Amino acid sequence: MSVPIELSGVIKDYGDGGGSHRVLDGVSVRFAPGEFVAIVGRSGSGKSTLLNLLGGLDIPTAGRVLFGGEDLAALPEAGRARIRRERIGFVFQDFNLIPTLRVVENLLLPLELNGLPRARAMARCAELLERVGLGSMAARFPESLSGGEQQRLAVIRAVAHGPDVVIADEPTGNLDLDTAQEVLDLLQQSCGEAGRTLIMATHSPEVIGRASRVLRLARGALAEER
Ligand code: ADP
Ligand code: MG
Repeated sequence: MSVPIELSGVIKDYGDGGGSHRVLDGVSVRFAPGEFVAIVGRSGSGKSTLLNLLGGLDIPTAGRVLFGGEDLAALPEAGRARIRRERIGFVFQDFNLIPTLRVVENLLLPLELNGLPRARAMARCAELLERVGLGSMAARFPESLSGGEQQRLAVIRAVAHGPDVVIADEPTGNLDLDTAQEVLDLLQQSCGEAGRTLIMATHSPEVIGRASRVLRLARGALAEER
């Protein structure tokens, strides 16, 4: 079951006191369980910064990031790492697969990190790979796959362990339109059928058209666009 995620008065500065640069200037927003939200804004507006805070990959300079009521910013790093590992799935523009691991090993990793016994993890991987048409590619290395195949693998890796929320940072940014549609279909199916929240930074009109809500980031502030 998914949980609400909430940012409250979030400020994010980069750099030290002298040369510090404010990227988020008091952002408050709530994501309801199961919604699909697109975050738009110019390059450099802070979309990745916002997603990194939502996913507990970074902490705010001030303010709170409430994941199901628990403040990620107040947790020790080990606590944030546990929430990332168990409850969040990430998808990135450049796939972020591990190049030295085979396709099936990339997929096994989140399952084994979450303590699934090897045999069950292998069975789950086989089923997921089949489902997205990568069954015959299990023993290959990611670099031998097309961009769309790599991103489909990244999507099933992100949801394999059953996270509450999937955070996707411009997941279709490196894909042609048809391939982007396939990846989006897969992301939406994988989240929709499980009632999982999907939060996506994007420039793609296709994504924006499909999202249930669109938020725009500009000059450090987040506004409802639709
Ligand atoms: P977007 O994803 O919308 O393109 P980012 O969140 O990547 O925007 O970046 C927002 C601003 O923060 C940019 O000016 C960028 O240069 C700066 N920035 C991002 N990450 C860092 C970092 N780790 N250290 C310093 N500045 C950063
Ligand atoms: Mg970005």
